[in-house]
Order: sequence, then C-alpha cells, then structure tokens
Amino acid sequence: MQDDYRLTVDHIRKHLATNTGGVVSVEHVDESGDPVRFSYAEVDRRLHRLAHGLRALGVDEGDRVGTFTWNTLEHLELFIGVPTYGAVLHTVNVRLFEDQLVYVINHAEDRVIFVASDLVATLVPIADQLPHLRHVVVCGGLDGVDTGALPGVIGYDELLSTAPDDDFAFPELAESQAAALCFTSGTTGNPKGVLYSHRSIALHASSLLGVDSFALRRGDRVLAVVPMFHVNAWGLPYASVLIDADIVLPGRDLRPPAIAGIIERYRATVMGGVPTVYSDLLAYVDRAGTDLSSLRECFCGGSAVSETLMRAYEERHGVSIIQAWGMTETSPVCTVSRAPAGVTGEDVWQYRTTQGRAVPWVDLRLVGDDDEPVPHDGRSSGELEARGPWIAAAYYADESGDDRFHDGWLRTGDIATLSPDGFLRIVDRAKDVIKSGGEWISSVELENQLTAHPAVQAVAVIAVPDAKWEERPVACVVLRDGAVVTPEDLREHLLDRVAKWWVPDQFVFVSDIPRTGVGKLNKRALRASLAITDLVAEPAR
Ligand code: AMP
Repeated sequence: MQDDYRLTVDHIRKHLATNTGGVVSVEHVDESGDPVRFSYAEVDRRLHRLAHGLRALGVDEGDRVGTFTWNTLEHLELFIGVPTYGAVLHTVNVRLFEDQLVYVINHAEDRVIFVASDLVATLVPIADQLPHLRHVVVCGGLDGVDTGALPGVIGYDELLSTAPDDDFAFPELAESQAAALCFTSGTTGNPKGVLYSHRSIALHASSLLGVDSFALRRGDRVLAVVPMFHVNAWGLPYASVLIDADIVLPGRDLRPPAIAGIIERYRATVMGGVPTVYSDLLAYVDRAGTDLSSLRECFCGGSAVSETLMRAYEERHGVSIIQAWGMTETSPVCTVSRAPAGVTGEDVWQYRTTQGRAVPWVDLRLVGDDDEPVPHDGRSSGELEARGPWIAAAYYADESGDDRFHDGWLRTGDIATLSPDGFLRIVDRAKDVIKSGGEWISSVELENQLTAHPAVQAVAVIAVPDAKWEERPVACVVLRDGAVVTPEDLREHLLDRVAKWWVPDQFVFVSDIPRTGVGKLNKRALRASLAITDLVAEPAR
C-alpha cells in the first residue's frame, strides 16, 4: 500500500479545479444587490493569487495567520489557502473580550490578521499590544475604515489583484504538519489552543461524509451558520469542497429572518448550527411560514439539543434535526445521533435524544473519580474520555501542565453515560453538574424538561450552595412573549418528569440568559449576574 500518501489540505484544494459546485457568499453582492455565487474553479484561481499575496507579506512556512471575520468567501479561501501555503490558520473568535483577544493573538504570535472591515474597530484599540503583528488585511473594502495604528494595512482585494497571475507552486507538506489553530472558549482561565494537523483535518472531513455521520453528498447546498471561528465550522467547509457540495456562507447577519431567507432562496439542503440558532429560527419560521422543504437534515450540537426542539421541526416543518457531540479539542465531531436501522415511530426518540454513537475511528470510555472504569450500561455515569485521529493530544504551547491528556486519552470534562450499544448521553458538564445530598442532578436534563413547557423560551439551571444538601438547583427561566406561568406550574410540570428531589427549589424569571461567544448558555456569567449565593433556597421537597 502507498502508506506514504499524505493526507493534506492540499488534496482538498486540488478538488476545486474540477468541482462544479461553488460558494454562495451573502456578503458579496452584484450591482443589483444579489449575492454572488463563486464557482470552485474561480476560488481555485483566487487561491493561487492569495498564496502569492501571503508570500508578498513575508509569511513563512509555519507562521500563524489569523482570521477575524464572518463566514465569507475570503474566509473559505483562507481556510484552504493558508494551510496549503504551509502556514497555520488561526481563526479568532470575533466575540472575545479585549484581553482574551490580546491573549490569543499574542499566544499564537499571529504575523498577519485578515479582518472583516466592520471588525477593524475592535482591533484598533489593542494595536499597540500586538508585538508580533506585521500586517492587517481588510476583507470587504477599506473605504471609510479607520485602521488607526494597525500595522501594514492592505485590502484583501488589492492583495489578490496585485498578485502575479501565474500558478503558485504549493509546497509538498507532511501530513503531521500544523494546518489550523483554534482556541477553546475558555469560560474560566485563559483560552487553550488546539492545533489541527493536515491529517486530522483530512480524516475528520472525510468522516463527515459517512452515511451514519453527516452524510454530505455531491450537489448538497450546505449552509454553515456555525461560525468559521468555532472549531473550523465543524469541518463543513472542507467536507463540502471534498465532495463538491455548494457551501452557503451567511456573513454577519445571523438573525432568523436572514437565515430563513437564505434557506428559501438557495434551497439549502443541509445546515449546521448550535441549538439557540434553531430555536430562534423556529419561532420566526412558525410566524413567517418560511418554506423549509429544501432542508434534508440539520446538524446541531455545541450544547444539548432538546427533544421539544427536534420534534417541533420534525412535526411542523418535516425537517430532521440530528444531534452531534464534540468539542474544540476533538475537531469537533465524535458522535452523531441516528436511530439504529429498524427502529421506527416513537421509538426513534429514545436514540435521537442521545448525543449518538461514536463515528468510526473515535473511541469513547467512561472513568470514575479515581480513573477506574465505569460500565457502559446506560445508567452509570462517569467522565467521558475520547481518543482518535482527530482528537488533541496536548494544548498548543501550554505551560500550565494541564492534566486533560493522559494515557492517550482526552478527558472531556463532560459527565456522561454510554449504553451497551454505544449511545452516548451527556449528563452535564463536570463544572455545571449539581451535587445534592451526595447525588448528582443533571442540569441538562432539567433544562430539557423545562424547555418542553409551552411558556418557556429558554432556561438555564444552576447550583446554589445549600447548608443541608451541599447544593440545590435553581432554574433561571426566560418566558415566551406574553406567556404567564407561576413557579408552581413549572414545579408541577417537572414532578411528572423527573425525580422529586431534582425539582429546583427556585424559579427565577429573567429577561435574558447570557451566552458565550459561540452561543452557549454562559452559566458562570449567569451566576455572577444573579449574585446567586444571595438567593435563599426555599425547599420544595
Ligand atoms: P466547545 O469546545 O466550545 O465546542 O465546547 C465543547 C463542549 O460543548 C462539550 O464538552 C460539551 O460539554 C458541549 N457539547 C457539545 N455538543 C453537545 C451536545 N450535543 N450535547 C451536550 N453538550 C454538548
């Protein structure tokens, strides 16, 4: 066998020239205001110019090249162009706070950053704190953009138009070479960098094509709502090019009317996004009567997906929401939730509400407090560990001696059960789990059950200290517009669904729940904003 064949992003790049699909970039409009579709063949030509441009900017092999932008054509070009040039694509989360931005850009030692014109203003105030930065390339036009003290500013279009027209000699790279870098969302401490190799990106993208995984296929129109700075948009851009599916990139406006309009207009067949994207979209499409019939399957992960949400899409719009589990450290996709063959009707839900089964090449196991094995019996819970060819073995340039990696396995920080037939159920994040009277209460399960109440728009369940029980749950609830409900109603609702001692002692009605930069419930911020330790627990047992 040709065991020395290299699994690199360059193989993905080479598909561009022969592909018949293309990129719909909502940010790029023609004279009549219509979004432009760029054929993959055009993207291929632009990639040669981009590579010449990177050379002109003095980028060397192995250098980190940052991106600070939305899901756009340029971002897709950088996804492929930077790794194939031999540099490392560092996708910076546009929602980071200033000090985190400074930290990640400096930790990565980004030499060049490609930034969306409307995000330049976020970088200007920190320009003097970025000693490694040599150039800032502005995507989307420089007109009227104040670039302050940012160094070596140039427009993306100018970079490409002034580059030579001849083919760039893309280097032969080792598959183990670094291709991309992404930092964890880091709700505590500094974000940690995860370095993806060419090989891990290639294998992970191939895995998404499996019929029991995302089953992407030629001719699909893949709408990536998940940001490209969130774990490489889950690999959707790479997989789409590999299989010659169109990729639809929505740009900066991710509000429901914009997303609904894109689905209808481009007849998207597949979509990827976090649960909040789908729940906000649902409220809109129910009202607006949007035609979602083009959607074959929608992939959803990043936090637990409630049965209520999945059923609403299925029953009201005929759209299947498929849950997947993963994390920045795992590229991300490790499990995908599909009912086994032969299971039909109501029975499918007991599978589809789990996080699913591991895709090929991913191993999962559970361990207890002292690292002892926990049985995969569907009942016993332990910390989930994972290993496989697209799972990180260390954090990037990390001095902290993190103990997340041991024995060839990644400790995920998720508490889970695994059934004998391999279905994963996430019980909680280890740091969010509620310990009451020595037993665990799953905040995820309580949130799922409360979301099923018709008055509840969103909910986060957090722990408060309790003198007797150690911790007790408190539910912070956002009600739907116009809904009226009492804590007693919610208590009644839960009593039918969970153990009595799980029922939260308090229901706090809030107008909004803070989110992390990638749209997850930010329980840390919620705890802080509620000064939750001051809440008086009022036992409901
Ligand atoms: P991140 O690295 O920001 O993508 O966060 C990864 C974490 O998100 C995981 O460790 C889980 O806690 C959570 N997560 C991702 N997907 C799911 C899912 N389908 N269900 C529950 N939690 C999830």
